[in-house]
Amino acid sequence: MDHFPIFLSTDTARIIVSGGGDAALAKLRLLMKSRAKITVFAAEAAPEIAQWHEAGRLTLVSRAMDYGDAVCAKLFYGANEDAAEDARTAHLARSCGALINIVDNLEDSQFITPAIVDRDPVTIAIGTEGAAPVLARAIKADLEERLPQSLGTLARIGKTFRKASYALPFGRPRRDFWRAFYFNAGPKAVAEGEERVLPALKDLLDTHLNTQAREGHVAFVGGGPGDPELLTLKARRALDEADVVIYDRLITPEILELARREATMIDVGKEGFGPHTPQEHINALLVEHAQTGAQVVRLKSGDATVFGRLDEEIDAVDAHNIGWHIVPGITSASAAVASIGQSLTRRGRNASVRFLTGHDTRGFADHDWKTLAQENEVAAIYMGKKSARFIQGRLLMHGADRHTPVTLIENASRPDQRIICTTLDALPAALEAADMSGPALTFLGLAPRAAAAAAAPLHQELANAQSV
Ligand code: SAH
Repeated sequence: MDHFPIFLSTDTARIIVSGGGDAALAKLRLLMKSRAKITVFAAEAAPEIAQWHEAGRLTLVSRAMDYGDAVCAKLFYGANEDAAEDARTAHLARSCGALINIVDNLEDSQFITPAIVDRDPVTIAIGTEGAAPVLARAIKADLEERLPQSLGTLARIGKTFRKASYALPFGRPRRDFWRAFYFNAGPKAVAEGEERVLPALKDLLDTHLNTQAREGHVAFVGGGPGDPELLTLKARRALDEADVVIYDRLITPEILELARREATMIDVGKEGFGPHTPQEHINALLVEHAQTGAQVVRLKSGDATVFGRLDEEIDAVDAHNIGWHIVPGITSASAAVASIGQSLTRRGRNASVRFLTGHDTRGFADHDWKTLAQENEVAAIYMGKKSARFIQGRLLMHGADRHTPVTLIENASRPDQRIICTTLDALPAALEAADMSGPALTFLGLAPRAAAAAAAPLHQELANAQSV
């Protein structure tokens, strides 16, 4: 992030605009929403500017800007539509200590003006560091459509009620009250008339004062394979409401971004402290936080019920009579199989599919190798990288065909997804050549569908792996 967004107080601030044409008009329309004292320097100014001057909304000085004109100015806009004049006036303003913006000249500007969605006092600023103004405008249009005009009214009336809301305890109870106001009681009341909003706030406060504090709760949430768009709506809502998020190593930063800013984020999967954060420690954290009344989200990769040691955590929470529920997620096998355009089951090929783990708490995991070695068996192997040679050995020993297709999908659903397509015979060598550092899912008995292989951008990998 090069341009750091802040909201600048304009109360009594001086802002200078040099120029009187269309560029200046566009800036002025925005600037006049603020409380700044605006001075425009322009030898020739558009009639609107002269009218605003007459109406006392700004000061128009009908000449070009000169030395000392920008004294005490906070911001300067070069809107002369003339590069040389912009450079000259910007230099004058900078020497007076003002921050510089030159219209359509990102390089020489010290700040940029974002696209703004105005529901005063709710203001949303959208910036793309000058990279994609079209995108900023599209986002603005989208938000304009989605945010009711009454939002500003609610926020303004809400502000007058802040002190009254202190009757509720700080934290969750107060937050719940304001959520209920902005997303439910408030919009309903304002639809009946602005004068209905304050009484609605009072009623709502009474209701909340008479409700018992919410009890602590744990949501075991499947965070999916990594792509935030593969989160369920329920998972998103749980993240929105969480006071505490306890998450695993495979949860991507994009997903963590979706949690509430104020939520306590606890990483229980750090390298060092651990892929081996002891399970008992995680259990204790869940209980400890839920017992303070917190809404805890235990965020696990994929689906929480697949190789997630979920039961141990549920037992711990249950032992303390803490409420919990499970929010299902997309397991990595589903994301991985989608990436190769295949089905997990297929009529006439396999009527069942196995989800296996390469290793368990005791080491390499044992399975029904005899069945797995049969033709047309399909298995999704989790945590199968280290145990690949072991799995290969066991399967071959039980008569599996050396040419059985094997596909590895690393970082399924993420931008750095890779697909390695090989055979049982060549699996260990292919894995070594691929040098994977991300999580990978191994499919036994599945190759990418030919059409998918041709269309997807994995071709280099495929070609390389096939030649291994
Ligand atoms: N509960 C998770 C699995 C946890 S075990 C789920 O449902 O997906 C961790 C293993 O899951 C990893 O070793 C890897 O085999 C697999 N995995 C998780 N995320 C993955 C991803 N984005 N791509 C490929 N495999 C992944």
